[in-house]
Amino acid sequence: MTGFPTGLLFDDALAIVRDVAAAHRLETETLALSRTHGRILAGDIHAPLSLPPFDNSAMDGFAVRHADLGDGETTLRLVGEQFAGRSTGLQVGPGECLRITTGAPLPVGADAVVIKENARVDGDRVTVGGDVAPGSNVRFAGEDVAAGDQVLRAGSLLTPARVSLAASMGLASLPVVRRPTVAVFSSGDELVEPGMALAPGEIYDSNRELLMGLLRADGLEPTAWPRLPDDPKRVEIALRDAACAFDIVITCGAVSAGEKDHIPSVLAQFGQTHFWKVRMKPGMPLLFGSLDQARVLGLPGNPVSVFATYLSFGRALVDALQGRTDPRPLERAQLLGPIDKAHPRREFMRARVFCDDHGVLRADPNPAIGSHRLRAVADSNALIVIPDGPQRLAAGEVVEVLRYA
Ligand code: AMP
Ligand code: MG
Repeated sequence: MTGFPTGLLFDDALAIVRDVAAAHRLETETLALSRTHGRILAGDIHAPLSLPPFDNSAMDGFAVRHADLGDGETTLRLVGEQFAGRSTGLQVGPGECLRITTGAPLPVGADAVVIKENARVDGDRVTVGGDVAPGSNVRFAGEDVAAGDQVLRAGSLLTPARVSLAASMGLASLPVVRRPTVAVFSSGDELVEPGMALAPGEIYDSNRELLMGLLRADGLEPTAWPRLPDDPKRVEIALRDAACAFDIVITCGAVSAGEKDHIPSVLAQFGQTHFWKVRMKPGMPLLFGSLDQARVLGLPGNPVSVFATYLSFGRALVDALQGRTDPRPLERAQLLGPIDKAHPRREFMRARVFCDDHGVLRADPNPAIGSHRLRAVADSNALIVIPDGPQRLAAGEVVEVLRYA
């Protein structure tokens, strides 16, 4: 296979993933509100009503007319009670007040609420202090949202607060983008299922759990496919089979230049290769293409490569297929020690990120070298992103970090 000898720049490869995914954006489905958490909103939402819907009390106390109150204490006549949840139609006339609870509609005539702690009650006489401004302790209709406002944007992640905002406007369902279905493959004749005995030369399959866990943490329900042997026909049949049933096919292993690396040729022969090889470390042999109805992401087999490529490209694919416009939060941290990088590729280095005693986020790089060292991943909680090109970074310099734990 030819055509991608040196690999693409990281950003160019990422742009291709986003463009291809945007051209295959998944369809919209309307779901009951309780099922929309964590999903991507498919359309703009305009407020069907104002929030609050009516003027109401912010506190438990007494609804009063501000004009009745002098500078010192004033005694008012208690003419009834207005609790939250029903409108009594009671009015507050001159010299009168009403007992009121938080969230209860402000009665006609009243324009302020005196909190109960600042009032003395004696039968139907209520004595209040003078220091009450008009509008005190009143929540006015529409002060949060005016009916017709655009309150949620298409492409937004539906966080608990946004779903709750939709609920507060009476919306029982929302349009969301369908989540991609994902088939996960691991491949290699040397791989053995945990729990089985190892023969000489064999290792346990650890990538499958890694990928399944990362995908589930991103809210997906991936399907693990039976492990692939290093057999071109078996690889071809399994991938083509999965590609007609899933939106995303993620493989790991068998994408480099080895004799047993059959995935790139299957894609080239039966589908379309969007790119193969990216100037990143680890993860250089990353492959991206389309096969039947699926986008195919071929991750290199080394466990740390799986990690770096999934966090940067896998997530971008998942997000773009759903039209997510909310960026993932960008985090930066100060390096605890220097980093000297001579090669031109973007590098992803394991690190422990923590907040120091001064409230500064710091990144302590893990010295383990080699993209096979999973223990260093488990001991760390983030990947430091070291930019393209040779870099001499001093301790204290700020780098981007991708936190994963
Ligand atoms: P490959 O890209 O197939 O040449 O694999 C690169 C390295 O990753 C080899 O040392 C493989 O044994 C290892 N590897 C590939 N797949 C897995 C997996 N699922 N779990 C653990 N190691 C793997
Ligand atoms: Mg292999």
